[in-house]
Amino acid sequence: MAGLYLHIPFCKRRCIYCDFYSTTCIDRHAEYTKALCREIALRKDFLKTNTLSTIYIGGGTPSLLPIEDLTFIFEEIKRHFRISPSAEITLEMNPDDVSVSKVKDIRLHTPVNRVSMGVQSFDDEELRFLQRRHTSDAAIKAVEVLKSFGLTNISIDLIYGLPGQTLAGWEKNIQKALKLDVPHLSAYALIYEENTKLWTLRDEGVVQETPEQTSLDMFNSLIDHVEKAGFVHYEISNFAKPNFESKHNSSYWDEVPYLGCGPSAHSYNGECRQWNIADLDTYIKTINELHHGITPAQPLFESEHMSIPTRYNDRVVTSIRTAKGLDICVLEQDFGADLATYCLRMAEPYLQQGLLEKTTPSDQKPKGVLKLTRKGIFLSDGIMSDLMWVD
Ligand code: SF4
Repeated sequence: MAGLYLHIPFCKRRCIYCDFYSTTCIDRHAEYTKALCREIALRKDFLKTNTLSTIYIGGGTPSLLPIEDLTFIFEEIKRHFRISPSAEITLEMNPDDVSVSKVKDIRLHTPVNRVSMGVQSFDDEELRFLQRRHTSDAAIKAVEVLKSFGLTNISIDLIYGLPGQTLAGWEKNIQKALKLDVPHLSAYALIYEENTKLWTLRDEGVVQETPEQTSLDMFNSLIDHVEKAGFVHYEISNFAKPNFESKHNSSYWDEVPYLGCGPSAHSYNGECRQWNIADLDTYIKTINELHHGITPAQPLFESEHMSIPTRYNDRVVTSIRTAKGLDICVLEQDFGADLATYCLRMAEPYLQQGLLEKTTPSDQKPKGVLKLTRKGIFLSDGIMSDLMWVD
């Protein structure tokens, strides 16, 4: 099993909270698509298998690419890899880009079988504040269009804790999301990232952060409502109807190797982690030099060897965040008794405070599994960082 992530670094305009790498130079899409395909060819052997179980085209805004570019990309993928018949193939789409003709083309010319949509809110004022380019109605219509073409495996993203947002306002968003009857939801608390417009607005006192208790109430309300509607809370921010968990995300958490192509994309193959330069110009130039056998002025990516402590830290972060939790016996088998003992020692205060729980040992899990409790989920960042090994 292996995954392929392709980053499409174009956005019509930048949303105020976003720190993903993207540019508004959409007119460079054809040149970029060619470079991206060259990277797929150059780096295909990074994965030690040629069968892909997931493909995820994210960004940026992949739905800005014309169908010719998407077709070209899939042809290149098929030249180098076998796509498993059960592969999950996701395309991120902005609700504004979902038109009958676009979806028809996607169905006719690509193997995409899942769509992830950044809806963020169903309140037009909130959408304007975030500088999203769609309206609530456009998001609702987009889901209808996707479904009418048989693309029913849809995930929508929501953001809570917007400045001035009330619990009642957030709950309206949840209700509208549930009404769409999609099988997957992701919900994130608004984060103030450095170098974003949102960060500046807060610094200038134009907006205030939502009080922590309100954010906590919103998160709890979300869990209550969506679980009642039949969703499984399978990861801190992710909820799915049974069998609709994102295979792509689950692969990251299960340490399945993946190749990431495009500026800022990350890759992992069990031995090392690599991350590409986050700049369109340098990326295209570097790929073209490599393609022509020229030593590039700058390396395409930086990389980090996965030492045992690094892999242990990754395991802690990726397992604790999921409903499956961190299996202590497997941890000991993979990283030794010392790190397993260290993990349990660091977990002890959180177990006492009811922020973590350990399942009763069983034949299958003889040392139990560490999991976040409902109370602990909201404080997961601090808990995970305390369980990590620091030299
Ligand atoms: S949130 Fe999405 S659409 Fe908005 S700037 Fe970031 S990548 Fe682009």
